[in-house]
Amino acid sequence: MKIRTRAVHAGHHPDPLTGAHVVPIYSTSTFAYGSFARGERLFAGEESGYIYGRIGNPTVRAFEEKLASLEGAEDAVAFASGMAAISALCTTLLAPGDEVVYLAPLYGGTEGYFLETLTKFGVRVTDAGSVENLPQALTPATRLVYLETPTNPTLRIHDLSAVAQIARARGVRTVVDNTFATPYLTRPLEHGIDLVLHSATKYLGGHGDCLAGVLAGPREVMEAVRAEGLRHIGGTLGAFEGYLMLRGLKTLPLRMEAHCAGAAQVAEYLSQHPAVRRVYYPGLPSHPGHETARRQMQGFGGLVSIELESKQAAALFLDSLKLFTQAVSLGDVESLATHPASTTHQLLPPEVRAAHGVSDSLVRLSVGIEDPEDLIADLEQALEHVMQTLLARR
Ligand SMILES: *Cc1c(COP(=O)(O)O)cnc(C)c1O
Repeated sequence: MKIRTRAVHAGHHPDPLTGAHVVPIYSTSTFAYGSFARGERLFAGEESGYIYGRIGNPTVRAFEEKLASLEGAEDAVAFASGMAAISALCTTLLAPGDEVVYLAPLYGGTEGYFLETLTKFGVRVTDAGSVENLPQALTPATRLVYLETPTNPTLRIHDLSAVAQIARARGVRTVVDNTFATPYLTRPLEHGIDLVLHSATKYLGGHGDCLAGVLAGPREVMEAVRAEGLRHIGGTLGAFEGYLMLRGLKTLPLRMEAHCAGAAQVAEYLSQHPAVRRVYYPGLPSHPGHETARRQMQGFGGLVSIELESKQAAALFLDSLKLFTQAVSLGDVESLATHPASTTHQLLPPEVRAAHGVSDSLVRLSVGIEDPEDLIADLEQALEHVMQTLLARR
């Protein structure tokens, strides 16, 4: 079935007990065995069933099934946040002496976890720099190749098929953080990638009302992660959050269409504006990743980053916006705007910020699903204010 149908129906069965049409919120920490013998069989793994809320819950399970279906994966495991998913995966698959090769830039929390936490446990982490340098960066100790596409905040596009081919030839697993694209726009497994994960806090939930993470891939890896990374670390998703994810995913295709259409109009508008020095949007033919994005994405996403004239211009612009909220995060139905250099990327050394294109005049917009005309009117009045104020000061 097509993805819009799967978004609505996958993982969705009427409640066997009551016939409730929508999956209920199973708010329970534990599950009755029913009998001494069944308890023994459940713990021996001879019968499958729910035992304890840390390792499985029916509401959360429905979310996992829906997401696995959308990504075209055998199975999925949900977590309390994107970082819980990432750390559970790495803890399960890595041991001292192993190496992770990644393509920078990564989400700040992920890069921090790699450089500060994984290294503490004897795992080496290396930035390959680019897909072209990836073959030389792989060593006999490499266990994972890890990347994001589009990247934060300059929306670089990595060629997923190229990465999968290089890593497969060397017997190394690949992991893609698909948060920015979502399975509606890109399904990394279809390009030969082994594992996919999300900060479901962003587009999957879509309404900015809870945190969640999810990992999808081969059943054998998902079972290992559930038995080790989830059970031993305990970053379990709650039943209510699982319900919000299920509800959010039903409209993912509709929301992504609106995000993409709005972002395309915003990017087009901004690229004509005299106060804007540069626009980063994979949908613009001038974007260096445009051709690759056309091949591996069904749309170009809802994020647009822009360079203004200076840090001062960026600050004035952000303080003048009325519809866009100044806040981190992305993928909400409401439009958001951030200044990465002074917020999410503030603690990075200046040379790393420069290498990742995070200049003081860069602003990142997460375009929501409001009417694009209203968003453009808001951007216009803010840019007008920047131009008037800076001209007056000269
Ligand atoms: C937000 C984010 C994360 C971390 O997810 P949390 O849900 O905040 O733990 C990981 N990767 C990307 C690309 C993100 O945007």
